[in-house]
Amino acid sequence: MGVETERIRSLNEAPMREGAAYVLYWSQMNRRVDWNHGFAFASQLANEHGLPLLVYEGLTCTYPHANDRLHRFVLEAVPGTAAELKRARAGYFFYLRATRQHANDVLYRLAAKALCVVTDDYPVFIAATHNSSVPERIGVAYYAVDSSCVVPMSRHEKRAYGAYTIRPKIKRELPTWMKPLDPVTLRRPWNENLLPADLRELRTNVTPENIPGLVAGCEIDHKIPPSPSYTGGADVARRHLDIFLEKKLSRYAGESNQPSKHATSDLSPYLHFGQISSLQIALAVRDYAAEHKLMADDFLEELIVRRELAFNYARFVTDPGTLDNVPDWCKRTMAKHAGDPRPVTYTPEKLERAETYDELWNATQKELLIRGKIHGYYRMYWGKKVIEWSPTYAQALQVMIHLHDVYAIDGRDPNTYTNILWCFGLHDRPWGERPIFGQLRYMSLDGMKRKTDTSAYIREIAELERTGKDIYRI
Ligand SMILES: Cc1cc2nc3c(=O)[nH]c(=O)nc-3n(C[C@H](O)[C@H](O)[C@H](O)COP(=O)(O)OP(=O)(O)OC[C@H]3O[C@@H](n4cnc5c(N)ncnc54)[C@H](O)[C@@H]3O)c2cc1C
Repeated sequence: MGVETERIRSLNEAPMREGAAYVLYWSQMNRRVDWNHGFAFASQLANEHGLPLLVYEGLTCTYPHANDRLHRFVLEAVPGTAAELKRARAGYFFYLRATRQHANDVLYRLAAKALCVVTDDYPVFIAATHNSSVPERIGVAYYAVDSSCVVPMSRHEKRAYGAYTIRPKIKRELPTWMKPLDPVTLRRPWNENLLPADLRELRTNVTPENIPGLVAGCEIDHKIPPSPSYTGGADVARRHLDIFLEKKLSRYAGESNQPSKHATSDLSPYLHFGQISSLQIALAVRDYAAEHKLMADDFLEELIVRRELAFNYARFVTDPGTLDNVPDWCKRTMAKHAGDPRPVTYTPEKLERAETYDELWNATQKELLIRGKIHGYYRMYWGKKVIEWSPTYAQALQVMIHLHDVYAIDGRDPNTYTNILWCFGLHDRPWGERPIFGQLRYMSLDGMKRKTDTSAYIREIAELERTGKDIYRI
């Protein structure tokens, strides 16, 4: 069976090119070969038209907040992708635009010989911008394919108010969509001679050995070092999944809110850069749980309901990172408490440097600075405290988005904006009135100490900071 039409959007009226040399798949967000509906759809088109398939993947120095951490994570996946595409008989054109002087029109030049362009449907950040501007200029048919969600985003006609409104719909739809994606065998193998010589020399050869040198040669922010915890790559993502199944799934329901227990999957960086598919994870978890008589509901709630609520939110708003999008009760309560005294405030710089009086909060911020991700439970506490310590709600929002943009490997994601806005009441409900927060949910240090082993976590992060090594790296 082919890729479902519900996953495919045609984004322009341009025709398929007559006499084309290949089909072009532009891998913007789903930087993987397996379980990729965009790649599969492009392969289908290639077979239907008797053409080979070329995959284009780019990484540019102009990527917003481009830095060593993000570049390293993306580049580490490239040799694996190259090997998989070779096995699949597709061509691969990886282009690292190291400086602003380097060519900025590679996609257009590749598209000039393509039957059509197939790319990833993604509701935020750079891919959303590309998908709204490129189709009009590209001159051939342009399709965006949703391989981000288990239940395609198009199955939701409107913005959901909260998890409780989207959950029943997702549950109803799941039996239709929880099924493996059949790989498509390409009939016409790729032939390098199809690439014009001037383009061939622009291609970047990436090997595990040359990655540090490539990163060093890019005009990007070199102050943010690579993560000592997360190595990029579809194979590493798959290892995280295997470890999750074998060692963590059985503990997830009981310990996922205990950061020092490391019972969560750590898959969010890989999901963000599309190095693994949520459908693949969901099926693997469901099947493993059935075979070993484990409960997977709590994990699947996060992976499918919560994550797809975030994609739903992002798809239906114009700017996902603004307080205009929170419900009216949040706006009213913030307006009422905007002038409340803030007994303690910190500048964005102090927050960034993890210089507050709160040892736990400082540890969470250091986890972001060093690992590039904060444990989910403490991430809520992290966000709530930024609200408490900022002079205005707007500044708190800006600080949180900025810190995610720069440091979080899983940042710049529908989950980033949705969860940061959750701290301001999005997808939540009113709670008891209190200063600064009004009816927004509040989280306290005492609560964290009662419910979690804060000392173990603080020790772990101190050790990470001292040694620069993460014993949890896989
Ligand atoms: C202030 C704040 C900011 C956040 N920023 C991000 C972000 O930038 N990127 C990001 O992916 N997540 C973000 N989250 C959500 C959550 O913290 C992370 O998804 C989770 O910690 C990732 O770790 P994991 O992969 O080990 O999660 P697991 O518990 O193993 O969950 C598996 C997957 O389910 C999804 N998931 C888990 N929790 C949530 C949630 N609350 N909402 C939506 N999806 C969820 C993620 O894709 C995650 O990888 C944020 C949460 C808060 C409170």
